[in-house]
Amino acid sequence: ESFAETGLRSILLDNIKKCGYKKPTPVQKHAIPIIREKRDLMACAQTGSGKTGAFLLPMLNRLLEEGVESHAGAESQTPEVVIMAPTRELALQIKDESRKFAMGTNLKSVCIYGGTSVPQQLSILDRGCNILVATPGRLLQFVQMGKISFSALKFFVLDEADRMLDMGFMPDVDSMVREPSMPTKEERQTLLFSATFPSEVQKIARDYLDNYLFLSV
Ligand code: AMP
Repeated sequence: ESFAETGLRSILLDNIKKCGYKKPTPVQKHAIPIIREKRDLMACAQTGSGKTGAFLLPMLNRLLEEGVESHAGAESQTPEVVIMAPTRELALQIKDESRKFAMGTNLKSVCIYGGTSVPQQLSILDRGCNILVATPGRLLQFVQMGKISFSALKFFVLDEADRMLDMGFMPDVDSMVREPSMPTKEERQTLLFSATFPSEVQKIARDYLDNYLFLSV
């Protein structure tokens, strides 16, 4: 019933405390151990449930355990974590939460989204990025420009998958998964979060997840 029981690194526990979080929410309590066991996960979770912490904390923990490079100045950025979100607002919130949890570590979180200056976003990326939060269209554009490669990818996260479907982003997500640099579903760990589970979302889970667990809180 406490974050200490999750076995997360002490720097993460300190940062959780600084955020004012006293104990894990139900989705955090159940998702953190599943993700730490390297299982794929499809989780039913609403906005406000604490789902962002549920996927960020175990991923950051693994990057801290395994150690990562800074990637600054690289020709092509190779993030270890890619999180796709349907809107700019959600993507920015996830990036902000990731930076709070990663305070005092060398992990860099960057957010890219459509509808804004490409050169400015490329210069932000160029400083290095381990955790990339993105809307699908802009991410696909940067991948096709050769600015981002999935060659170091460990985690692939689809947040609010039902909204991504409604907004017509699935063809972009599908192209991303078919990129030559994308690890196979057996190689990467894939996490899918959605508030609802219509048959289209279930199909996405079957196509992109490997031997996954289903969590509903
Ligand atoms: P989310 O569902 O991830 O959008 O989170 C909803 C809100 O709950 C955000 O403002 C978080 O900062 C906050 N939150 C997340 N986890 C916890 C927790 N364990 N205790 C208290 N607040 C939390």
